[in-house]
Amino acid sequence: MGDRISWSVSKAKTHYRLDKWNMGFFDINSKGNIIVKSESHDLDLFELIQDLRGKGINTPVLVRFPHILQEIITKIYSEFQAAIKASNYAGNYIAAYPIKVNQQATVIQHLHDQTQWPIAFEVGSKAELLACLGILQRNNQTIICNGYKDQSYIRLALLGCMLGHKVIIVLESIHELNYVLEQSAELEIEPILGMRVRLSSIAEGNWQNTGGQFSKFGLTTNDILALVNALKNTHSLARMKMLHFHMGSQIPCLQDIQLGIKEAMRYFSELTRIGIEFKMLNVGGGLAIDYEGDCSDSYFSRDYSIKQYASTIIDTVNSICRKNKLKSPTIYTENGRAMTAHHAVLITNVIDAEYKLQMETFKSCNDYTNNQKLDLLHKLISEISMDISSPDASKSLSGKYNALFEQMKLIEQDFLMGRVSLQEKAYAEAVVNHAYDNIYNAYEELDSEYKQELEEKLVDKYFCNFSLFQSTPDIWGLKQIFPILPLHRLNEFPNRKVHIHDLTCDSDGQIGTYVENNSIKPYLSLHEFYREDDYYIGLFLVGAYQEILGDLHNLFGDTYAVNIEFDSDGTYQIYEEEPGDTIEDVLSYVHINSDDMRRTWLYRLGDMNIHEHSKKLLLQELETALQQNSYLN
Ligand code: PLP
Repeated sequence: MGDRISWSVSKAKTHYRLDKWNMGFFDINSKGNIIVKSESHDLDLFELIQDLRGKGINTPVLVRFPHILQEIITKIYSEFQAAIKASNYAGNYIAAYPIKVNQQATVIQHLHDQTQWPIAFEVGSKAELLACLGILQRNNQTIICNGYKDQSYIRLALLGCMLGHKVIIVLESIHELNYVLEQSAELEIEPILGMRVRLSSIAEGNWQNTGGQFSKFGLTTNDILALVNALKNTHSLARMKMLHFHMGSQIPCLQDIQLGIKEAMRYFSELTRIGIEFKMLNVGGGLAIDYEGDCSDSYFSRDYSIKQYASTIIDTVNSICRKNKLKSPTIYTENGRAMTAHHAVLITNVIDAEYKLQMETFKSCNDYTNNQKLDLLHKLISEISMDISSPDASKSLSGKYNALFEQMKLIEQDFLMGRVSLQEKAYAEAVVNHAYDNIYNAYEELDSEYKQELEEKLVDKYFCNFSLFQSTPDIWGLKQIFPILPLHRLNEFPNRKVHIHDLTCDSDGQIGTYVENNSIKPYLSLHEFYREDDYYIGLFLVGAYQEILGDLHNLFGDTYAVNIEFDSDGTYQIYEEEPGDTIEDVLSYVHINSDDMRRTWLYRLGDMNIHEHSKKLLLQELETALQQNSYLN
């Protein structure tokens, strides 16, 4: 109750930990709506949704903000430049964008078109390389080629050099060197080489297996020595310019990153001693996002700032270079997650709610007085209400809670045996849930085990218009936590505890963990949902990995997507509208051909004894359905 009265916009910010994860890009205005901030304009997302609807763009919609991409790159560059200055480092810094994180043309194009900062691109396959070669129009763009390579991948990399780019082939094996030597001789191109080393340091986190001795990628110490020999034997040592390693994505602990850098610098020193003159040190990705807004070493947070990340890398490399009299390399990072996560928000709408506390059923309480089990239930509930008002109640309450639970189980058994009717069961469920709610509200101090159990029992279900598997697959695959909150009504107390469920017919299509107050909760506080009003929810920080990992579960396809750009006069433009997949599109992904379908319909209608005009109308309707978006209208 106290929360309800003292609720305010600023309470909402703390409640959803907005200030902790938003990096200054989002806020709440006095109307209680979420805004996106830019230099020239604060955009009210609730108003944006109305604008989009006016243009026929409905939720779910992925909204991208390229200015956020730009501001994050500026932040990363500024921190590295400050660190270089502070430690008097003689080398440079370059941010590479690993395009696997988000290969959408609009993202790559933006990073290429902006000229404020030099951006290199990292690719891991032929398709990604070809995408870069097709998009990068400016001369001398740096492209780093990782991943296992065959002859045609390597040939493509060399063709990239012929197009005027600086393409670095990072060797994962000796075979790759042989291919490079063959192809470069044939094309008469001087290749630029790198090598990826396998560190034994492990960075704890969801991707810790990317590092360590048993990791999938990277050369072992024996491989490295064999490669050095092969380079020497083929007079190619001078072509080796980059030392690369990657410890994993989303590394929550800065100390782990520092240990990795120290180990990599041992390889750098040793290989320099053997005769390689590395010009570049590529420390890979790993810069984490604080999805939880917790500033801790938990897997979806990070215990460091971008400033500390930059200074740790620069200071560590610098001190080892000085100590060992090494030439300071240009330092590359490949932090795609950090570059892109904040720039995209998925907006969905609630389509239905299932409330645990049903007031309606209560009204008919007098109808059920001659059932013994229900009588017992009433007795327990009235004892609980008496307990709640007594000063020493919490002692006996856990026992009552258990008795209530057991009594409800008996009623369920009686229902199975036909001794309790459907109406009686519904009534019992409703009164028990109310009793649980009373216990929960009265006793903040209740045993934590009971409290958690009660929370789970009381959580409502809100069904939202999106597919978790398509738009936020990491929630399913990794139990990833994203900040989620309503986009409006934030000046109103959110009185419901909710589990969000998506549209798919899959029990995994629900979100089990949320960022709330001081902890991660099994529910999200949302407002009452009224069918006659729209209620919009934003899933934030979804710009990294989600789009490309998404799949077509239940044939829910790509959502609408739009880019929003701000003009200097405070207005904004909606552009690069991507209409999302039609049902015809998603069917084609599973090779269901729409022409075959049309033929089937004609064939079926041929059998039907209905008027030609009706046949025509029916066919038209089926055709319209094929062209519809796969989500709910
Ligand atoms: N570089 C390489 C070689 C990778 O494999 C990856 C992804 O795992 C990245 C960079 C991106 O790392 P992050 O997710 O930290 O941006």
